[in-house]
Amino acid sequence: MNFTAFISDLHLTPGRARINEIFFDFLRGPARTADALYILGDLFEYWAGDDDLLDPLNAHVASALAELSSRGVPIMLMHGNRDFMLREGFSRAAGAKLIADSVTVDLYGTPTLLMHGDTLCRDDHRYQALRARMRSPLWQRLFLFQPLWLRRAEIERGRRMSERSKRAKSMEIMDVTSVAVEEAFRASGCSRMIHGHTHRPAMHLHAVQGRTCERWVLSDWYQHGQYLRVGPGGCEAITLP
Ligand code: MN
Repeated sequence: MNFTAFISDLHLTPGRARINEIFFDFLRGPARTADALYILGDLFEYWAGDDDLLDPLNAHVASALAELSSRGVPIMLMHGNRDFMLREGFSRAAGAKLIADSVTVDLYGTPTLLMHGDTLCRDDHRYQALRARMRSPLWQRLFLFQPLWLRRAEIERGRRMSERSKRAKSMEIMDVTSVAVEEAFRASGCSRMIHGHTHRPAMHLHAVQGRTCERWVLSDWYQHGQYLRVGPGGCEAITLP
């Protein structure tokens, strides 16, 4: 069919059964005709560690992805800020390949920069400091050393705190900065970027070193599902169901 599908920020959780069903329908439907599926972070509301694969929803997600992968659709999985503890245990169960944030891929002749998007939100200094701490190998080793129930409780506590601080932050602070976006375009040499995270689906044009660059922001899956369909002719956002 000559298109590649991009999704992010699904935030799958047992509490949103309708969205979960839209996702499973997507994997059984349009995704099967894609050349590849890229998940650009925050597939899950949170991920406490690969031993959480025993959870029924998590197991269902892994097996539904594995089914797609076994049909010959490669699945690429990038960490988001909520599921950066996903490791080989999950990716193996899902038949997916973990990819770095960020990475450049050639899509039908157009080099495209892929990111989750949180690293572009540079004005949010508190978040960036927290991110640096949680991405350190030592922090992650110590975190994973704890039993699953304690990790889950700790994440729940952290999320409640982050919800409170998010309400106090302005919308501008939580958006990407144009400096970070332009730097990313310059460093990669790409004229197209796809990312998620900000939950503000749109296509923005940026003038970088005399080039006109496209930045596609993926939708979250709170109200409905959505994927970006990228083909030889360009990009199109498709709303589900
Ligand atoms: Mn995110």
